[in-house]
Amino acid sequence: MSKIYKAIDSQGLVRVFFVDSRDMVETARKIHNTSPVATAALGRTLTMTALIGSGMKDKEDTVSVFIKGDGPLGQIVTTANGNGAVKGYVANPAVHLPLKSNGKLDVGAAVGKGSLSITMDLGLKEPYCGQVPLVTGEIAEDFTYYYAKSQQIPTAISLGVLVDRDYSVKRSGGLFVQLMPGCDDETAALIEKNVTELPSVTTMLEEGMTPDLIVTSVFAGLFFKYLDDDEYSYKCDCSREKIERALISLGEKELKNMIEEDHKAEVTCRFCPEVYKFTEFDLINLLNKAKNK
Ligand code: ZN
Repeated sequence: MSKIYKAIDSQGLVRVFFVDSRDMVETARKIHNTSPVATAALGRTLTMTALIGSGMKDKEDTVSVFIKGDGPLGQIVTTANGNGAVKGYVANPAVHLPLKSNGKLDVGAAVGKGSLSITMDLGLKEPYCGQVPLVTGEIAEDFTYYYAKSQQIPTAISLGVLVDRDYSVKRSGGLFVQLMPGCDDETAALIEKNVTELPSVTTMLEEGMTPDLIVTSVFAGLFFKYLDDDEYSYKCDCSREKIERALISLGEKELKNMIEEDHKAEVTCRFCPEVYKFTEFDLINLLNKAKNK
């Protein structure tokens, strides 16, 4: 479980979210058996997705993030709801790349060039979709650009995953600072100065800074209060019913092929280790449902 701290200054001009996301990212690493650079890329994206999820109003609301880069990792997909669940996967979790000259994992090269899309289903008729090109593929810069370009909201985002020697997740966290409409220049400049002076998220966590100290440092010089916090963890909500619906949506031709060629089907969830098995009889039933659609 990862607690998301949320705070707002007394005038309602700046909001700050912070999460120590080690638990959810380590769960993702174990499920997908990710290499260090894949752990960092997926972990940063999961952390940010949980932070966005935490800002949603209703429990049923969902946010999905698609990072489509031309690098060796392939697509990164994550999704979170307003009820504390986040999940995700990376297309090629076993990719290894040389470290950058500064000794850091080369997430930018692993992700490559491409696009970042965010889809929010807020229970309205149409889901909201926004897309921007990737700036660096380092994830935090890409989300920052998304907010500036697609939402016109000045935002500072810091995401970090530190992988241990045994490839487990040693530290992981995310800091999300957003200026609200009407924020004056003086406050904006103060917040910018405070954020710029902070070390990276993983450094702060390594140095033992508490979430409270991190949030307080961002607001230095301003009064602020905490809002209700949220708890997020890696959870998959897949079910046999959902997989059946997905199979039906493949259509008659595809189902007939499966029946005639394989006489069965095995579907592994992309987000968790669950495997769903379908016999020939099951598939014929689904084919009938597809025909009656
Ligand atoms: Zn699943």
